[in-house]
Amino acid sequence: MPKRIAILGATGSIGVQALEIISKYPKHFEIIALSTNENVDLLSEQVSRYKPKYVAIADEEKANRFNSTAANIKVDIGNNSLASIAALPEIDIVLNAIVGIAGLKPTLAALEAKKDVALANKESLVAAGSIVMKTAKRNGCRVIPVDSEHSAIYQCLSNSNDLKEVRKIHLTASGGPFREFDKFSLKSVTVEQALNHPKWNMGKKITVDSATLMNKGLEVIEAKWLFGISHEQIDVIIHPQSVIHSMVEYVDGSVIAQIAATDMRLPILYALSQPQRLRSDIPKLDFFNLPPLTFEEPDLQRFPCLGFAYESLKTGGTMPAVLNAANEVAVGMFLRREITFEEIPKMVEKAMNIHSAIQNPDIYDILDADSTTRLIFEHRKDELI
Ligand code: NAD
Ligand code: MG
Repeated sequence: MPKRIAILGATGSIGVQALEIISKYPKHFEIIALSTNENVDLLSEQVSRYKPKYVAIADEEKANRFNSTAANIKVDIGNNSLASIAALPEIDIVLNAIVGIAGLKPTLAALEAKKDVALANKESLVAAGSIVMKTAKRNGCRVIPVDSEHSAIYQCLSNSNDLKEVRKIHLTASGGPFREFDKFSLKSVTVEQALNHPKWNMGKKITVDSATLMNKGLEVIEAKWLFGISHEQIDVIIHPQSVIHSMVEYVDGSVIAQIAATDMRLPILYALSQPQRLRSDIPKLDFFNLPPLTFEEPDLQRFPCLGFAYESLKTGGTMPAVLNAANEVAVGMFLRREITFEEIPKMVEKAMNIHSAIQNPDIYDILDADSTTRLIFEHRKDELI
């Protein structure tokens, strides 16, 4: 029986790569449902090509333009449509490739419906990691990483049943396009420069997050929840060649690394096929033509967002949700050219400073911290910049 899959955020970078790779394995995977926010033209093309039974379109206005000649397709519209398709009885596993906090409710809906979730949407775990992981446990289902670093760690941990044997998780980071920029040069970087990532071709938000190193900060938080490990045991190593996707250091001194070509189709495929490995035509590593592998410590002076992510974990409770919300707002403003690149960390820091964290939050505390942070930016934008 093929695994029956829903892809949320099918029209984004991860969604498109997922469809491309899994459609090569019709005996293993069946595409049941797809969603988009507003890219109805691409969704129509995907419907003709991959023939899902259901689609969800979050943006109600754009949904009017959805034009499909496919027979028997059910179309659900509006914000709740994502959670509805995530919980469909015909689905075995949900790939959540939505960007931002919009992915949180669908993640929870899928888990409540006892579906495993292959999670690319790191913001779900950053904002509400403890709730997401408890919901998975209560329903007897799993959150399987899609992010390349977390997929690497998942693979490096697969022979160890005991987290007490783990000394450290080393998350690798390319360092982004501004790795070698000094503080002064960082002041004048443009949106175009920030969107020009040296190693990965991704959606705009994560590309800017990679340039500020916030992406790595979000990944530290993601790793804490996925693997149930303290932030003191997670460190970040700048590895510009992006050959090693991350490493686990064990208490006896052994370090196990996962290495592969920089191609997101590999962690996407593994998240959906694991524990099995499927033969693929993803480019192989060419060992004899690899550049020398180098490693550097991250510079928190030039890239303070990484430090803020650790601080938000130390404070705990609702603070990571505030970090995430402030960052989403700031990145949006940067992309609309309303603030400069160096104002992104300033806004995140201010949002964290004015928030009093609630410990052991429930989902309403998290959603409240998220929306209050966004509201503050709308009304007091000038004070916060
Ligand atoms: P993207 O911007 O290319 O695509 C985002 C998708 O989410 C689109 O299909 C869009 O329609 C949908 N979407 C956006 N806002 C929505 C909303 N409000 N409601 C419903 N749907 C909405 O993003 P991406 O690069 O594919 O990243 C997706 C997620 O995967 C992010 O959390 C990112 O951090 C993570 N991720 C991406 C990569 C990568 O290589 N692109 C790697 C690792 C992790
Ligand atoms: Mg990553």
